[in-house]
Amino acid sequence: AEFTSIDLNELLRDTLTLLDHQFKTAQIRTETNLDPQLARIHGNQGKLQQVILNLMLNAKDAMFGMSNATLKIATFNSSGSVFVRIQDSGGGIEREHLHRIYDPFFTTKTRPQEGEHKGTGLGLAVSYGIIQEHAGKIHVESERGVGTAFQLEFPASGSRS
Ligand code: ADP
Ligand code: MG
Repeated sequence: AEFTSIDLNELLRDTLTLLDHQFKTAQIRTETNLDPQLARIHGNQGKLQQVILNLMLNAKDAMFGMSNATLKIATFNSSGSVFVRIQDSGGGIEREHLHRIYDPFFTTKTRPQEGEHKGTGLGLAVSYGIIQEHAGKIHVESERGVGTAFQLEFPASGSRS
């Protein structure tokens, strides 16, 4: 796959624009806190967008029909790495499910309600692979009834590793 120099802030903004209508329809408020000094990373634009899209759509599903639904997107640099945080105010992930969410075909979206889509359980499995190809990491924090935050970490381009 082709790797180029990527501005993750730009990719996040573009992806938010792409989903703007869907979020408005679902009454989801978005809050961004993007570090203007964010380092660039070395990556595949299309694949990274697929990861971001997956995480944002999972957040949307998790907040389906909830009041005060908020999606928070943040980026920051820390010790040679670039971090992306995607946080929702949805129902959270059950503790017993946490270790299975990256398994191919693991989904809890078997009986979708109106406006939801049926899950394939491939989104996070594919995302995990893409992040690995980028020498990155994915980390999740989730609390039932509070929400879920996925954090991505990538080596900043130009940083030694
Ligand atoms: P799918 O979205 O097709 O179900 P994914 O691989 O994207 O598959 O996600 C797997 C499962 O992980 C979901 O079915 C859901 O149970 C859980 N999950 C992922 N993201 C979130 C989130 N933001 N909030 C709550 N649960 C989530
Ligand atoms: Mg998904």
